[in-house]
Amino acid sequence: MTDRTESVWQRWFGRRRAADEAPGPHDAAVRETLARVLKDYTDLDIDLAEAEAKIRLGRLASWGAEILRGLGPSDADDPPTLDPDWGTLRTTFARHRRAERHFVSETVGGFRQALVDVAQGLTRTVESDGSSDERVSKSVAGLKELASTPSIDVSRLRSSVLQTVEVVEAAAGERSRRHNREVGRLRDILRTMRVELKRVTAQAETDPLTGLANRASLDAHLAGTAAIGAFRGSATSLLLLDLDHFKNVNDSHGHPAGDAVLRNVGDVLRALGLRETDLIARYGGEEFAIVLHECREDDAFKVAERVRGAIDAMIVVHDGARIHLTVSIGVAERGLDEAPEAWLERADRALYAAKAGGRDRVHVAA
Ligand code: GH3
Ligand code: MG
Ligand code: MG
Repeated sequence: MTDRTESVWQRWFGRRRAADEAPGPHDAAVRETLARVLKDYTDLDIDLAEAEAKIRLGRLASWGAEILRGLGPSDADDPPTLDPDWGTLRTTFARHRRAERHFVSETVGGFRQALVDVAQGLTRTVESDGSSDERVSKSVAGLKELASTPSIDVSRLRSSVLQTVEVVEAAAGERSRRHNREVGRLRDILRTMRVELKRVTAQAETDPLTGLANRASLDAHLAGTAAIGAFRGSATSLLLLDLDHFKNVNDSHGHPAGDAVLRNVGDVLRALGLRETDLIARYGGEEFAIVLHECREDDAFKVAERVRGAIDAMIVVHDGARIHLTVSIGVAERGLDEAPEAWLERADRALYAAKAGGRDRVHVAA
C-alpha cells in the first residue's frame, strides 16, 4: 500500500494499521465499497473507442469482481483471490481517468470550435447583407464569446444557441419578406416599362397626324411580306396614293386646312373596311400606301378604284371652306422574288403614270 492509501486508511480508522495486524471489521466494508466504485466506474464508462482503453477498463472491472469474490464465503471451486496489486490498480485507474479527461476535453474543444465556426459563418452571412439588423449581430457575437470561454456552461450555451437560431430565423424571414417586396417592386417597374415600351414602340410606328402606320412601319411590313412571300408564294399588291394638287389646299386654305384634309384622308382609308392583315400607311407628306394581302392586281385595281371614289366623295369642311380633292393611285402586284425596293419603285412609276395620264385615276404597273 502506498503512503497516500495509508493516509486515507488513517483518516477512516484514526490510526496507522500495522503490517501484520489482522484485518479489522471495516476492511470488508472498504473493500466492498471500492469494488462497487470500480463496478459503477466500469459500467458507466465513456466509450473511448481505442483498444487499449477497453483492455484497461476490462482489468478494472475484473479487479472489482475479484475484490467482491474475495469477500464472499470460501468456495473450493472458486477460491478467494489474493489481494490485487493495489499499486497497479491505482495507476491503471489513473491512466484511464486521464484518457477519459483527454477525450472529454477534446470533444468539448471540438464542439466549441464547431460553435465558433458556426458563429463566424453566421457573422459573415449577416455582414454580407448590409441591411441586417443589430439583434442578429449581437446574438451571434454573444454565442461566439460564450463558445470561446475556456469553461463551457452547457445550459447557457444551449439557451444562447436557441436564442441565436430564433433571432437568425426571424432575420431570415424579414429578409425574405424584404426580398419579396423588392421583387414585387421590380416586377411593377418592369410592368410599367413594358407598357411604356409598347406605347413608345407603337408611337415609333405611327404617323402622329393621321394615326396610320408611318414610313418605317411600311418599310418593315414590305420587307416582312417579301420574306414570307418567298416561301408562301401568295399574291400581295401595293397601292401608292398621292393627293392631286395638294399644294393648292395649303396655298388656298392654309397649312392647318391641309392637315385637316390629311387627317380626313386617314379616316376615309380606315373606313374602307380592309382586312385586318392589310396595312394602311402614310409614307410621305400627302402620299399614302396600302398593302393588300392575298390580293392579285385586278382585285387591287378594284380596291384602288374604291379608294379613288371615296376620296373624290370626301368633302372636308374647314373654317367654313368646303375642300374637295382627288387622288392618283399606282398599283403593283409583287413579282416573284421581287425585292421590296423594286416593288415600291414599280408602284411609284405606276403612280407617276396615273399623274401623267391626267390625275384622279388608277394605273396598274406593267
Ligand atoms: P401633285 O398632284 O403633282 O401631287 O401635286 P401636289 O401639289 O400634291 O404635290 P407637291 O409635291 O407639289 O406638293 C405636296 C405638298 O404637300 C407640298 C407640302 O407642303 C404638302 N405637305 C406635305 N406634308 C404636309 C403636311 O404634313 N401637312 C400639310 N398641310 N401639307 C403637307
Ligand atoms: Mg407627292
Ligand atoms: Mg400630290
